[in-house]
Amino acid sequence: MHRKLASMAKHQSTEGSTVTIFTDGLPSIGPQVQKGLEAIRALGFRIEERRVKRLEAAGDVGMNVVLEDGEKVYVGFLVHKPATTLVAEDLVNQVGIETEQSPMAKTIKRHEPWGTTNVKGVYVAGDAGTPMTIVTGALATGNIWIHTRW
Ligand SMILES: Cc1cc2nc3c(=O)[nH]c(=O)nc-3n(C[C@H](O)[C@H](O)[C@H](O)COP(=O)(O)OP(=O)(O)OC[C@H]3O[C@@H](n4cnc5c(N)ncnc54)[C@H](O)[C@@H]3O)c2cc1C
Repeated sequence: MHRKLASMAKHQSTEGSTVTIFTDGLPSIGPQVQKGLEAIRALGFRIEERRVKRLEAAGDVGMNVVLEDGEKVYVGFLVHKPATTLVAEDLVNQVGIETEQSPMAKTIKRHEPWGTTNVKGVYVAGDAGTPMTIVTGALATGNIWIHTRW
């Protein structure tokens, strides 16, 4: 997920600039995470594993990320994906729809390719079914759902 976010940031950055991923401390040593980090490094992203102490304004453009040892890293812009959750979780629970929790979001468990759920006749589209919340994803999954009704 962080890899996808980093790729999005890369597309939005100016040519030749570096994208740094701030992990705010040592990332998990789990094989899946380590494999992901290796892939990110191979793509030319920088990984900063020191803890982030605070953010500081840096003039008209960008900001400084102040690290635990006081070093300041200037960034033109900062992307952060806060954890998201279900707005109407009580409704989801009443209907008995299965949910799942990831570090980035609590979502309705979505079955591909049509966005079905564990409850017959209930589909999920958009943010409610993914931790990667973007408009294009919402449009695409909503569109799939419409087509299954034909
Ligand atoms: C600050 C911000 C900036 C963003 N910027 C971007 C961006 O630049 N590019 C991008 O691609 N994406 C961006 N996103 C993400 C994007 O907005 C979402 O991915 C997209 O809106 C998801 O669409 P959706 O239809 O799934 O959910 P939503 O747009 O959240 O629509 C859900 C609707 O359901 C309603 N609702 C909830 N519960 C109930 C209920 N019980 N009864 C009736 N109605 C209910 C809500 O009020 C809401 O209107 C941004 C999101 C935020 C918060």
